[in-house]
Parts: sequence; structure tokens; C-alpha cells
Amino acid sequence: MLEEIIMISFEEAFKIVLNSVKITGHETVNLNNSLNRILAQDVVSDIDMPPFDKSAMDGYACKAENISNELTVIEIIPAGYVPKLHVGKNECSKIMTGAMIPEGTDCVIIIEETEETAHNKIKFTGNLEKDAKGNLKYFQRRRGNICYTAEDIKHNETVLNKGTIIKPQHIAVLATVGCANPLVGIRPKVGIIATGSELVEPNEKVDGPNIRNSNSYQLFAQAKKMGVEPTYYGIAEDTDEAIDSRVKKAIAENDVLLISGGVSMGDFDLVPGILKKNGIRLLFDKIAIQPGKPTTFGISDDIICFGMPGNPVSTFVQFEILTKPLLYKMMGHDFKPNIFSLPLGKTIKRKRAIRKSIIPIFIKDNKAYQVEYHGSAHINAICHAEYLISIPVGITQIEEGTMVDVRQI
Ligand code: AMP
Ligand code: MG
Repeated sequence: MLEEIIMISFEEAFKIVLNSVKITGHETVNLNNSLNRILAQDVVSDIDMPPFDKSAMDGYACKAENISNELTVIEIIPAGYVPKLHVGKNECSKIMTGAMIPEGTDCVIIIEETEETAHNKIKFTGNLEKDAKGNLKYFQRRRGNICYTAEDIKHNETVLNKGTIIKPQHIAVLATVGCANPLVGIRPKVGIIATGSELVEPNEKVDGPNIRNSNSYQLFAQAKKMGVEPTYYGIAEDTDEAIDSRVKKAIAENDVLLISGGVSMGDFDLVPGILKKNGIRLLFDKIAIQPGKPTTFGISDDIICFGMPGNPVSTFVQFEILTKPLLYKMMGHDFKPNIFSLPLGKTIKRKRAIRKSIIPIFIKDNKAYQVEYHGSAHINAICHAEYLISIPVGITQIEEGTMVDVRQI
């Protein structure tokens, strides 16, 4: 029974949430639809990269031992062309960036360091300094301006691992190794409901006791940023019927439900009761955390449900620290926030220490500062914060200069 559930620590809540995950399954997608998806396969290269010894520069391919001599140009080698001629003593082939290195050569002298001495004759004008062993320093530094076969990727090498979030740079690698339709985690279907009789939509006028619904759009964007395409079910006024009908529809159509508002102690906080009536087993209904104490979480065979607090900062933070790791895990990614250590720029104090506090932070001159923040309804505060820090239970003050773990959001 809900009444028996006590406030649990954030760490316990986190474990409960992640243990509720069912992996959604896999599908293949075209590369152009793969951004932000989670790889569900280890990707192995079907080629060496580069696949052939390749010129890194526009210039002349020759043997290094001949470069103090005048060289005869015997062929022009564009990219995408197989050289026909073997380059002999005191010969060279003019070569373009990306073209195949011809036989008989071990370096490319760059066009800027040559001059044409006669028709089809060139001379190297660069630095001819040699090291103690008699090797030209120029070529040691530049590796002869040749990109050697397989120096970047070897045939059958694993280039990307299962669980990777696909970013643009990963897409280049997938394309290079011939993975045109990567296998990715299926995105969970996420439904979003706002509750509150005071709420109006952003395009509506605010009159009397109204405020605009910001949570739904914020949650929608937070999910979308992870590559998830949510569905919005509108605002339910604080009545059993209005909430229940949306909850039923959202349960039928989604894997995860994010319902905001109506989860705290007020007379019209009806959400937990409605979730239970819809077969959702509540696993916790309070976390010892600030903001976000009334965060409620439940599961059934059909749905994983977050009852998010109504206050927008709470909703933002709870999505970030609980919902995001859950959604990523459903797609096959073990989410680890980007955390680094910085000194606190100004002492942070709080009156009570029975909950873990999450504080919005900005960074200036490599120090972490608390954003001016009036509490969980202060929606624009987090616009100035790109980081969070947490103050553990039992701690009321962190002194200026203390190293703190700053978490990127
Ligand atoms: P509740 O959790 O329903 O008691 O709401 C707590 C506070 O958050 C109240 O001031 C609500 O007006 C506000 N609130 C609830 N839902 C939203 C929403 N969707 N967007 C913005 N503020 C909200
Ligand atoms: Mg409400």
C-alpha cells in the first residue's frame, strides 16, 4: 500500500528505477536516421583504412634518396585512379591528395616545395637537412606525406562498441566501414501528461489563477534531446475522470509515462491513486531529495511510470537524474553523466540537511557557483545553469574552495 512507503534515499530510488528496465529490442536504421540512437551491435570494419597507401598531399611521389636530383615527371595520378607506371631512379609521378601511391616510391614532396625546371622536370626546393643516420629530417616528421594502408583502421577491427550513443563523428566511421544500416536499440514510446486545473497552454492567455504549462514541453524536449520521440496527451484538470482517461490512453500506447503535477499532499493531488487504480504498482512516492521530493515511480506489465513533481525545476532535475538513465538503459546505453571536479567559488549553505540537495551551477573562471535560485518553481534559474552539484544528506555547508563534483546537464 502506498501509505506504507516511506521516503527513500536517492541512491535507493535510482536502483529501483534502473532495475525496472525492460530492454525494448533492436531495429536497423539508415545512417541518416541514426543520430542519437544507441548502437546495439559491435561494429567491425570490412576494410583496411586507408585501403591503399594514399597521398596526404598534392605533390610528386618519388624515392626519398633521389630528391636532391632533378626528377622527370612520368605520370599524373588523380584521386580514384590506379597508377600505371613504376617510378624509377630520378623519376616521379605528379600526385593529388587522396590518390594511390605509385610503385617504386616512398614519399611525396609537396607541390609548394618544388619548382618546374623544364617541361616535365621538377626540383625539390625544400629543406634537405639530414639526421645523424643520413635520413632526411623532412620525411621523418611528415612520414613521407603518405597515409599507409590500415594505419587508421584494420580489416575486422571493432571500431565502435555496442551501447555507443551515435554522434555525427560515429556516423562518419559507420559510413567508412560499410555499416550503412546500423542495428540500434528501439526507442521506448514515451507519453507525457500534465495535470493541474490551473494550467493553460503556452499559446493561451494567463488570466487570474492560471499559469502556463511548461513541464510538458520541457519533458518533451528532454526526451527528444536523447533521440526519443514522445507523445503529448495534453493537460488534465485535477479530476479523477480527466486524469484517468488520459492515463488509460497513455498506458495503452506507451512504454513509459511521464505525468507531472498532482503527486504531493494537496487535496487535489490525485495522480498516485489513479495510477494504482490502473494497475500500476508504486515502488516509491517520495525521495529524500530537493528539488523533487514527491517524485513517484511505479510499474505494471505495460508501463513504467514517473509521477513528476509539478514544479518545473523539480521536473527538470528528476528527468535528468532518474528518467534519462532509465530511458538510455531501455535503449541499451549505460548512461554516465559527465562529471568533473572544480573548486567552489562561493560558500553554499542550507538550513536543513535531511535530503540530498541538487544545486544548479554555473562555471566562471574555472570555479563553480550556485545560480541564484528561489526554489523549485524558479523556472528561469536553470537557464543559467549548465551543471549540477549535489550536497549529501547530513551536510549543511560547503566552503568556498572545496573541490566539488560538477555534473554537466
Ligand atoms: P503540484 O505538484 O500539482 O502540486 O504542482 C506544484 C506546482 O507546480 C504548482 O505551483 C503548479 O502550478 C506547478 N505546476 C504543475 N504542473 C505544471 C506544469 N505542467 N507546468 C508548470 N508548472 C506546473
Ligand atoms: Mg497540481
